[in-house]
Amino acid sequence: VIQKDKPLPPELVPIRPEVYRAFLDQVLPAEAISTIRVQINKVRSEWSYFDASIKINVLSNFHDALFASFFPKPSVQKTFARLRFAATFHPGDWSVRFSENFLTHSFDNVFNVWLHESYHGFLHFLSLRLSLEAATDTLHPPSDICEIARKYPLAMNDLVPVTLAKRNLLGSADRGLFGGRGLDSYYLNVEISVETLTELTFKRIFPYAQYKRSYKTADEYIKGRMNGGAPIYCC
Ligand SMILES: [Zn+2]
Repeated sequence: VIQKDKPLPPELVPIRPEVYRAFLDQVLPAEAISTIRVQINKVRSEWSYFDASIKINVLSNFHDALFASFFPKPSVQKTFARLRFAATFHPGDWSVRFSENFLTHSFDNVFNVWLHESYHGFLHFLSLRLSLEAATDTLHPPSDICEIARKYPLAMNDLVPVTLAKRNLLGSADRGLFGGRGLDSYYLNVEISVETLTELTFKRIFPYAQYKRSYKTADEYIKGRMNGGAPIYCC
């Protein structure tokens, strides 16, 4: 747990920026960036005319351009309108579920949320490749996803994905722990990591656009907690 004037536990020390950069250098080669830009330009101006099922189709197709060689494609679904959540990733059936009303937001907002939820899938799959048993116990993914992960164990000397995979597994397991200890780990190791990858990806695709984070940075979160803020108000 984060406490004022106490050193941060090692498992909550923020992942260094160069780890995220090295990861994205592997995941987003220049060709993938130009492919996704072309796809986005085809749909961006028409976005508000599409109905929900076309939007879901468009988002699903982005997976093929960006992530197909890295993790199994989640199904994209729409759920009943919810006010608090734009979308959620569900490892149990490997799906991204969008709140129906959120799909009416601008293309950029919906795209960013889709990216964020996709990175949950990406990191969960890395955790499964890192440690299939432990990650299965925590995430309960479908058996076909586990079988794919089993075929592609993560090389333990591949430190960049191993770091992200370990932290994601830790934060996912800690989420259920009572009180601040679990939430600090969940926010820093899962949500803030995912959001940092999302922000950096967005900036690589649109170098001149503004990005509004949906979670604070790790440094801002820790500062808020050191000043006595509750986890939920610091993220
Ligand atoms: Zn999230």
